[in-house]
Amino acid sequence: MKLTVLVDNNTNDFSEPFLLGESGLSYLIEIDGTQILFDTGCGDVFLRNADALGIDLTHLDMLILSHGHEDHTWGIDSLIKRLGQEHTRQIKLIAHPHALMPKWFGEEQIAIRNDIHEFFSVQESVDPVWLTAQICFLGQIPRENSWEGKQAVGERMQDGVRVPDLVEDDTALVYKTADGLVIITGCSHAGVCNTIAYAKSVCADERILDVIGGFHLLQADQAVLQQTGDYLATCRPVVTHPCHCTDLSAKIFLSQHVPVEEVRSGLVLEFD
Ligand SMILES: [Zn+2]
Ligand SMILES: [Zn+2]
Repeated sequence: MKLTVLVDNNTNDFSEPFLLGESGLSYLIEIDGTQILFDTGCGDVFLRNADALGIDLTHLDMLILSHGHEDHTWGIDSLIKRLGQEHTRQIKLIAHPHALMPKWFGEEQIAIRNDIHEFFSVQESVDPVWLTAQICFLGQIPRENSWEGKQAVGERMQDGVRVPDLVEDDTALVYKTADGLVIITGCSHAGVCNTIAYAKSVCADERILDVIGGFHLLQADQAVLQQTGDYLATCRPVVTHPCHCTDLSAKIFLSQHVPVEEVRSGLVLEFD
């Protein structure tokens, strides 16, 4: 499996081609001839970086949404423009049902476009969905830990009224190898430790090779960092790649518990 970071907040690398950063996340996952796009960032940066890297997205098989926030989904408009509706209709879009619903932050609409079903072959699921024999979309993640996954982010619509949005749609992918699991998160609104615990349970494997993506640790309390670091240490990951919505102090703190490596647009990770 090859994972290419098409969009990250960082571009701190001096090798060419020079790539763009964005406050968003988009990863291309390629496995056995199947192309899976995990999130799109919020603009056209994922396409511009793919072009610069010589990556052809015209054979895209699936689009997976980690959750329904703008920094992960608004790039969809650029994808539709690039590929055309005839083409995008053949792409399977998999997401939790809430990821496709209206969401607000204050008065600002932050959800995906409301006509998404016209453009993609949509599969909504709260349950795990195996995309290939080895990659699983986790669906809704149980929130069992006391220190994470409790924060609302804006509001969503429920039965005609706005309610605080706990981002129940927040999910992740897990890649199951013979040596353990690679967990690929969006923002980890569900809590990164909850996400890892659920991935272990769904895959019946306790061994963690890597966790890459947003850990949702921005100006986090010391107690939250401590519990997250302690949990991660018990998982003994070979490496972690906290990024996107993980701030520097969280990365420094976590690096005292587990190996931490940087992420940037253009980073490629390969796993057997
Ligand atoms: Zn989010
Ligand atoms: Zn995000």
